Amino acid sequence: MTSTAIVRFRRDLRLHDNPTLVAASEADRLLPVYVVDPRRVGEREYGGPDSFRYQRTGGHRARFLRESLSDLRERLREHGSDLLVRRGRPADVLPELAAAVDADVLHEQALPTTEERETGAAVGDALAARGIARRTHWTHTLHHPDDLPVHPTVVDDTFTPFRERVEAECTVRDPVAVPDLPSLPVGTPAAGELPDPLGSVPAEPPDERAGLPFRGGETRALDRVEEYVWAGDHLREYRETRNGLVGADYSAKFSPWLAAGCLSPRYVASEVARYEAERVANDSTYWLLFELRWRDFFQFQFLKHGGQQFRREGIRSRTDIDWRWDETAFRRWADGETGVPFVDAAMRELAATGYTSNRARQNAASLLANDLRLDWRRGAAHFERLLVDYDPASNYGNWAYIAGVGNDSRDRAFDVLSQGERYDTDSAFVARWCPELAPLAAVDPAFAREPWAAPRDVRVEAGVELGLDYPRPMPGLGDRYDGIP
Ligand SMILES: Cc1cc2nc3c(=O)[nH]c(=O)nc-3n(C[C@H](O)[C@H](O)[C@H](O)COP(=O)(O)OP(=O)(O)OC[C@H]3O[C@@H](n4cnc5c(N)ncnc54)[C@H](O)[C@@H]3O)c2cc1C
Repeated sequence: MTSTAIVRFRRDLRLHDNPTLVAASEADRLLPVYVVDPRRVGEREYGGPDSFRYQRTGGHRARFLRESLSDLRERLREHGSDLLVRRGRPADVLPELAAAVDADVLHEQALPTTEERETGAAVGDALAARGIARRTHWTHTLHHPDDLPVHPTVVDDTFTPFRERVEAECTVRDPVAVPDLPSLPVGTPAAGELPDPLGSVPAEPPDERAGLPFRGGETRALDRVEEYVWAGDHLREYRETRNGLVGADYSAKFSPWLAAGCLSPRYVASEVARYEAERVANDSTYWLLFELRWRDFFQFQFLKHGGQQFRREGIRSRTDIDWRWDETAFRRWADGETGVPFVDAAMRELAATGYTSNRARQNAASLLANDLRLDWRRGAAHFERLLVDYDPASNYGNWAYIAGVGNDSRDRAFDVLSQGERYDTDSAFVARWCPELAPLAAVDPAFAREPWAAPRDVRVEAGVELGLDYPRPMPGLGDRYDGIP
């Protein structure tokens, strides 16, 4: 008897190292599908105390996803298959398709976060009602949960002990090869034109000031690895450059492809191992894997703590923080108009490109959560909309961590002014995203980072009148930002 399978792509938009695709390809016939769930795109109500609404997917990620799907479809076609893209609730769409092609089984990626798990379970129930099996595969982390020293639901809540045990006791599995793809089932509906997966969200074109224009898809992801690791030879010095702020290559910039699953972290690890064998093994090659273990850490934390990770009081159940709710203050932060140039540069870069560096994210998040004490979940939701590399566990996990309600009991507040001085010493980052301050940077980089500290005649000469050309520091930031001469 002919067996028929569906492979549903989720955050695994690739052919390389894709165990879900390998398992599904054991069938005689295979239908590859991607479902755009409108609930992940449109407005969402964030529940709990001080609930609020926000738009979940913005134009940068909409464009990136569209490009990724288009590339996936092309690659599947090159292998004699195709990709069907449908819009609707997966639990409605998938059983209908399964019935149309008489499928016996659906294979899909397992994901750790609450909504994704609920959606998967609903798909499983709807298929089971029709006698169709659902098989899940964990494919998006460096380490497989079955290889961890302990079950993922009891991993350590602090990164360092987690990492040390993983480094000492676990290996990374080898990537799996691209399988031969079975032909499409009889009765497969016509794939037609790729529908705009995100409906009403207009795709945002790349901004020419971006350090690296991100184009979605596995093809570009593999090119980026080649470009960064081999052609650019950047693993010689990644550890020293990774805190940079301006340019294409201070860090790997793999995150958008990793988040959409266009790139497998195990493939990255295999390329690092090859680089170590053929060129050099050093602190930098180690450090890229160290960062990928941060990524793993948050994925397993969400598996462990579930929905508690998204609550305002976090996994530490902190009720002692008096979170404020001030719409004007929030807008100033979101619009890059706080009057603190280092943070404004970060927020403007994020809005214009969908990306800003890790260092910039940390400082922008800390100003909102620790200095202004505005509800951190609003900041995280704003990032969710804008980030081209948005991943629920990495985003909410990092936010909660910085806000002091997550995976660390230490105070994670950043001294934004001294961070600016240390990491943007020449104020190139500030001058790029707050060009009105560039003339001050030309006189003295410190004046661009703290324009209120520049002598009045210097500001006049540079054409920077505070409150007119660039905002004065917003209220609520404390003494260090006051006393404008
Ligand atoms: C408030 C805040 C929100 C964030 N939201 C996201 C998000 O939604 N999606 C996302 O992928 N990253 C997020 N990060 C983590 C980090 O900022 C980005 O992964 C990194 O900037 C991506 O650039 P890169 O690929 O050049 O990183 P590199 O420095 O080259 O690191 C290599 C890879 O390691 C992983 N990584 C590095 N640092 C972290 C980290 N702190 N947490 C998790 N993974 C990490 C990423 O997959 C990254 O691609 C967030 C950080 C903060 C402080």
